[in-house]
Amino acid sequence: MTAWRCEGLFFRYPGEGPAAVRGVSLEVRAGACTAVLGPNGSGKSTLLRLLLGVLAPERGEAWFAGRSLAEWSRPAIAREIGVVPQAEELAFPITVRELVAMGRYPYLGSWRREGEEDRRAIEKAMDRCDVLALGDRLVSTVSGGERQRARIARALAQEPTVLALDEPTASLDIRHEMAIFELLRELGKSGVTVLLSTHNLNLAARYADKLVLMDRGRVAAEGRPAEVVRRELLEAVYRWPVRTTPHPGPGPDTGAPQVTPLSGGAWNPIDPSTTPSIRGREYE
Ligand code: ADP
Ligand code: MG
Repeated sequence: MTAWRCEGLFFRYPGEGPAAVRGVSLEVRAGACTAVLGPNGSGKSTLLRLLLGVLAPERGEAWFAGRSLAEWSRPAIAREIGVVPQAEELAFPITVRELVAMGRYPYLGSWRREGEEDRRAIEKAMDRCDVLALGDRLVSTVSGGERQRARIARALAQEPTVLALDEPTASLDIRHEMAIFELLRELGKSGVTVLLSTHNLNLAARYADKLVLMDRGRVAAEGRPAEVVRRELLEAVYRWPVRTTPHPGPGPDTGAPQVTPLSGGAWNPIDPSTTPSIRGREYE
């Protein structure tokens, strides 16, 4: 089953620069975890916004659950997909519980009072993300990791079957980052479709079923972790020398390919002998 499909997506922000997304065609499987990787500015967030219908493509088309995003209304898509955006400013001070409760808006509208079912969903989401004890704290006063868990709880309070997260573990320490990846794996086991962007290649390779590597607005590679976490590919895209080794374990992801960036020498991006061919055509 396919959650998303897109063909030839092209998007340019107003201004001079090159297009942020240039001809992206993809399939995102339902019930699986897909991680979008790529350097800063490679188009990860723009691609997610196109798939969520927040941005409309200049060319190409995206479908969610078999229907073109152009046909989905904003409230309808908001009920289907729980979204954790990369960053947001809260306009007014609210508590952690109030933030999580906002996840119920697609059901409540802004006028209906919380019912028993809403309360249950909010509590369950807070429990899952380990923020129950923080309910009365102002969001502005909790730590970065706690805030991020609260934002994920908000998306889960909606009880979505699909979750889209833009760099959900940016600036988190090991424990909080691992807790989020473990949570995503658990959600995946219960049938939730997860689409996330991340800079953590190693955890993506261990936790995601499929990786999509973006490079300057294009898909440089996609596939199972072993198909994407390859030395020559990562060196070309990130322009830095790396080595890949299997994850030594223990754990269910023993053997997953892991990346170590090397020190002491920049990779020469214009050396043609190290320029790999990607998807059968010469890589520019
Ligand atoms: P990533 O999430 O991979 O870091 P983005 O999708 O945010 O990449 O950005 C892709 C490109 O689009 C970058 O060159 C970035 O500068 C540009 N861009 C992103 N957001 C905007 C915006 N709101 N206005 C203009 N350019 C933008
Ligand atoms: Mg981004």
